[in-house]
Amino acid sequence: MRTKREHLHINLNLNVRGLKTSSTLAINEKSQELVNAGKEVFKFGLGQSPFPVPEIVVEALRRNAHQKDYLPVKGLQSLREAVASYNFRTQKLTTDPAHILIGPGSKELIFLLQLVYYGDLIIPTPSWVSYSPQAHIIGRHVRWVPTREENNWRLSYEDLEKICREDPERPRIVILNYPSNPTGYTYPIERLKLLAKVARKYKVILVSDEIYGGIHHQGQHVSIARFYPEGTIVSSGLSKWCGAGGWRLGTFSFPSNLSWLQDAISVVASETFTSTSAPIQHAAVTAFEDHPEIDLYLHHSRRILKSIAHFMTDRFHEMGLDIQLPQGGFYMFPNFTPFRQRLASRGIMNSLDLANRLLDETGVAVLPGSDFARNGDELTARMAYVDFDGQRALLAASENFQENGLNGSFVKEYCPKIVKGFDRLGNWFLDL
Ligand code: PMP
Ligand code: GLU
Repeated sequence: MRTKREHLHINLNLNVRGLKTSSTLAINEKSQELVNAGKEVFKFGLGQSPFPVPEIVVEALRRNAHQKDYLPVKGLQSLREAVASYNFRTQKLTTDPAHILIGPGSKELIFLLQLVYYGDLIIPTPSWVSYSPQAHIIGRHVRWVPTREENNWRLSYEDLEKICREDPERPRIVILNYPSNPTGYTYPIERLKLLAKVARKYKVILVSDEIYGGIHHQGQHVSIARFYPEGTIVSSGLSKWCGAGGWRLGTFSFPSNLSWLQDAISVVASETFTSTSAPIQHAAVTAFEDHPEIDLYLHHSRRILKSIAHFMTDRFHEMGLDIQLPQGGFYMFPNFTPFRQRLASRGIMNSLDLANRLLDETGVAVLPGSDFARNGDELTARMAYVDFDGQRALLAASENFQENGLNGSFVKEYCPKIVKGFDRLGNWFLDL
């Protein structure tokens, strides 16, 4: 006999049956439950900016709290103009404001693109957790392209060419995310050019997910749209560089010859979310404008993230891992393979076992490499280095640590949970 619950379950759409809450959100909820139960948890799970939204943007939101009307489906005109200027200012990209689409998070826009476009989806692994569940929900075929650690997990143009050559006419979307979630690495210009060349040859549509572009640690993010403007949709938003994940505002910048895709997405948007929250769109105009306060905020955010990246890389080296310094964002993707035998002797055979045991035995919350489409038995994990008081760290970086590089003592003082989490992690591996 089926239980009543099981009866309900079989009425679920096949593509949704068995799917679970996205792992980034699930680890956050689990970590919070453990904290509520009195356990000390080091939250390297959810990738959420630790920094506050810049005050000038918060003030813009205050001023716009009264905005109550539905806005145009594609987005507020002044915001689309501000995003176009931002694209030009930061990347020298010319985007027609008419070809900018505003959505409630870039996650939703990426989903809608997959929904409206008929074609294969090519995703390098490791990749962000949500692209492929989105494809699964829609019933879209995903072609994974494994990358190698020695290459800093970057998609090679040779691999892309090999796939495209198999069936040159096939419609395809390639998702490229850099600086990368989960690895923190980005592409040198030469590699972007080579990838762009292949993309142009086979007319693939590139979704360039640049949501971490604003927090390239040296402020030197370069968009592939510079080299393949006619086929690249640049995906971005407020969530990472502006500390506003919960505001839910994402942007797609289309080249003019792909405006038919923008129109198709807008039609679906008009039948689903209607338009993005009005006060948030009005406030976002300020975020995309050129303001010295925002430049300063970004300058210090990057310095802080860079100093933590150095700290973590050094600690991994001390543990015997061969890992390179991340270049942007707030993630690292260590590979614990050198510990494989010792982990196996404790019954830890794969990345999921590793993540579970780390949380249980040390309180360090990470996500397993398998969530990023890596083989389950690879001993990789994603660590988001965001468990610190971003407001306090920003204040100290701007007031007391003006000129010098921020060193380990800054991290010790302003990011104590990261340091303690690493102590726990290091000791646990030492004791295996
Ligand atoms: N792309 C990547 C790589 C991400 O890490 C995220 C997570 N925020 C998103 C897209 C979606 O961001 P949002 O929906 O907040 O714009
Ligand atoms: N992108 C963030 C992460 O990878 C979390 C937010 C989300 O998944 O929507 O942890």
